[in-house]
Amino acid sequence: MMIWSPPLECLPRLDLQRMQAERLAGMVRRVYERVPFYRAILDRRGIKPSAINDLAHLQELPFTQKSDLLHHYPFGLLAVPLSQVVRIHASSGTTGKSTVVAYTRGDLDVWAEVCARCLALSGAKPGQVFQNAYAYGLFTGGLGMHYGAERFGLVVVPVSGGNTARQIMLMQDFGAGVLACTPSYALTLADALEARSNMPEMLRTLILGAEPWTEAMRQELESRWKVQAVNIYGLSEIIGPGVSNECVEAKDGSHICEDHFLVEVIDPKSETVLPDGEVGELTFTTLTKEALPLLRYRTGDLASVTTEPCQCGRTTARMSRIVGRTDDMLIIRGVNVFPSQVEAALVGMQHLSAHHQIVVTRVHHRDELEVRAEVSSAFFADVGAKLFADHANQGVKALHHIEDALKRRLHDALGLSVSVSLQPPGSLPRSEGGKLRRVTDERS
Ligand code: ADP
Ligand code: ZN
Repeated sequence: MMIWSPPLECLPRLDLQRMQAERLAGMVRRVYERVPFYRAILDRRGIKPSAINDLAHLQELPFTQKSDLLHHYPFGLLAVPLSQVVRIHASSGTTGKSTVVAYTRGDLDVWAEVCARCLALSGAKPGQVFQNAYAYGLFTGGLGMHYGAERFGLVVVPVSGGNTARQIMLMQDFGAGVLACTPSYALTLADALEARSNMPEMLRTLILGAEPWTEAMRQELESRWKVQAVNIYGLSEIIGPGVSNECVEAKDGSHICEDHFLVEVIDPKSETVLPDGEVGELTFTTLTKEALPLLRYRTGDLASVTTEPCQCGRTTARMSRIVGRTDDMLIIRGVNVFPSQVEAALVGMQHLSAHHQIVVTRVHHRDELEVRAEVSSAFFADVGAKLFADHANQGVKALHHIEDALKRRLHDALGLSVSVSLQPPGSLPRSEGGKLRRVTDERS
C-alpha cells in the first residue's frame, strides 16, 4: 500500500485542524484584500478578516454559489491579475455561459499534487501505463489527471474520451494498467471489449468519476472488467478532479484532501451545518487556491461526511458517494426520487443490462416516471428463438415476467409505482466518452 503524502494525509486531526484554521485566516484576509465581491459582502456583514482565526468562525462566513461565478463571468472573482494566470478551464454549462475557472502556477502545482494522491489512493503503482480517457480541453478531467499522473510517475497515454475502437486498441497494445474515465464510459468500453471477448490483460484499476454512480454499478463493472474500480470526485470550481478519492483498501467513502479543501455539509434549505454522517449539500472552502479562492462554495452535491478513522491509516475525512444533486431530485407525485435510486435498483438484475434511461412526463396532470431498461443480449436471443420456434407465448411471458420484477424492485426502492419499458440490447444512449445524461424531464 502506498500513501502519496503521509505527513499530510495521516496528520492527527487536531494538527490538521490547526493547519486549516491558519490557512483559512490567510485565505479570508486575501479575498478581502483582492476580491471586491467578497470585500463587499464581508463589509456588509461587519466581518473583520482579522476576527476569523478559528475553524468555528467558518460559519460566520458567506456562502458562494454558482450564480456568483456567472454574475462575474469570466474573470470578476479572480484574486490575482490575469497576467499571473497560466491556465483557464470551464465547465460545460448546460444553460448558456459556462463557469470559468483559472489557475496560477501554484494552483497547478497543488492540483497535480492532489491528483497524484488520488492515484495512490486508487492503488496505482508508479511505472504502470495510465490510459487517460477523460476529455482533454476546457473540461478539467483530462488535464487534471494528466499532470497528476505525470507527477505520480505513471506512463501517461493522453488519449482523451471517445473513439472506442482506438481506446481498446491502445489499451491492449500499450498494456494499460490503470484507466480513468466516466463510469458510463467504462460501461460502453466493457460492452465493446466483451464483443471482442478479450479484456485487457494488464489492467488492474479503473478510476471513475465526473458523474454519479452506485455500488451496484461498481459490482457490475468490477466483475466484468475483473479489476478494482474506485471513485474519484471533484468539480471545476474547487479545482477539478482531485478533491477526493476512495482508498482501494476500504472503498468506504472518498478521502478529502482536507489540507486544501475545507468541507462542510449543510442543510440546503436552512443552510445550517449538519453533523458527521448526515446527508446534506457539500460545501467547500478552498484553503490554498490563489487565482480563484472560494468561501463556502455550495456544490449542489448531496452526500455525508465522516471523520471516523479509516483502515488505510489516513486521517482525512471521507465523503459518501454523491446520492444526488439539489437540482437533479425529481419530485414525482410529491415523492422525492433521485436517479441514483433507480440505478441502484436496476443494475445487476437478471436478464437486464446496466444501460437505462429515466423519462418523466405529465399525463392529465399526473406525473409519470418511466424507466427504460435494456434486456441482455442473451435474453434477447432466447426470446427471439422462442418466437421463431412457434413458442411466442413463452417469449411474451418471459418479457412480462422481467417487467413485473423490475416494477416491483423500483416500487420497493422508490415508494412509487413507475412504468417500465423494456428495450432491445444496444438501443439506449451510451456514453461516447464523457458524462451521460440519463434523465429526461418532459414536464414543462
Ligand atoms: P461540468 O460542469 O462540465 O459537468 P465539473 O467537472 O465541474 O464539470 O462537474 C462537477 C460535478 O460533477 C460535481 O459537482 C458533481 O455533481 C459531478 N461529479 C464529479 N465527480 C463525481 C462523482 N465521483 N460522483 C458523483 N458526481 C460527481
Ligand atoms: Zn481509507
